[in-house]
Amino acid sequence: MTDNASSPRSRTPLTVLGAGAMGSALVRAWLAAGHPVTVWNRTPARAEALAAEGAAVARSAAEAVAANRLVIVCLLDDASVGSALETADLTGRDIVDLTTGTPAEGRTRAAWAEACGARFLDGGIMAVPPMIGSPDSGAYVFYSGSSALFEEHRDTLAVPAGTTYVGTDPGFAALHDVALLSAMSGMFAGVFHAFALVRHEDIAPKDFAPLLEGWLKAMAGLVHNAADQLESGDFHRNVVSNAAMQATGNGTLLRTAEEQGVSAELLTPYMVLMDRLVAAGRGDEDTTGMVDLLLKAPGTN
Ligand code: NDP
Repeated sequence: MTDNASSPRSRTPLTVLGAGAMGSALVRAWLAAGHPVTVWNRTPARAEALAAEGAAVARSAAEAVAANRLVIVCLLDDASVGSALETADLTGRDIVDLTTGTPAEGRTRAAWAEACGARFLDGGIMAVPPMIGSPDSGAYVFYSGSSALFEEHRDTLAVPAGTTYVGTDPGFAALHDVALLSAMSGMFAGVFHAFALVRHEDIAPKDFAPLLEGWLKAMAGLVHNAADQLESGDFHRNVVSNAAMQATGNGTLLRTAEEQGVSAELLTPYMVLMDRLVAAGRGDEDTTGMVDLLLKAPGTN
């Protein structure tokens, strides 16, 4: 009997280093799709828990790397990746590093892996573990680095989450990942300030949450206007809410925080930067010019 393309035996076998919350979710998704998976974890019990679900457990990272050409790494941070792979022979391996790191760490790790004889793809996971392996969850992974590796394994990589390849620069996956995470930080800073404002009032958080969600979704579309202004360099184009008006409005936000007994510590850095834009005589522009005020001159910290 011969295997056809969709039979489990024909699915690419792979190794996963790391059986933490995310690594385990990845392993389960590949096992469920019929991929033979070898797993290694520093603390063996976490990998052994996956053996009952069909994973082969390796006793060392080196043994796990030797088991399969395709090696997925999902460890705490880049330093853990370095220590896990220290004794492994990477010759001829395809390393896909889904560990969250900085762009520079991605580039350095890629150069190191290539010097060890491997192809390298960096990844940034835009999901939490329960979203992995669930096609409708919206989970996806940014990939960058070896396009040959990505093309060869794209079907396998698409099993746990969607795939978005952002270029051959191995730092770009991390850059996209961290940029989106940074935007999320700012969003939650605003969300928590808003909840604090209504915290001691007769306003139930569960009644307030849908209002917050609707407002944030309505405002989110303005990122496209900002992108248009950044690409054209024309910050007077399609001005929606000029900076001088918004800076004045910030005073209302701060006085309301004061009235409600709420610290404005999550908001003030944003407002200080807006004041700088207005003080530079740019009050008639949109606030998008604040992007370039954030850029540090080369060589400064
Ligand atoms: P966990 O804390 O659940 O697991 C961490 C993993 O790293 C474990 O396998 C742990 O092994 C291993 N580890 C830590 N230090 C070392 C070391 N020095 N040497 C070898 N292995 C080490 O984290 P997650 O699984 O949730 O996260 C893994 C990666 O996925 C991180 O980079 C994270 O940023 C990323 N990620 C996670 C998301 C999430 O919501 N969980 C979302 C998006 C990305 P041990 O069991 O022995 O401690």
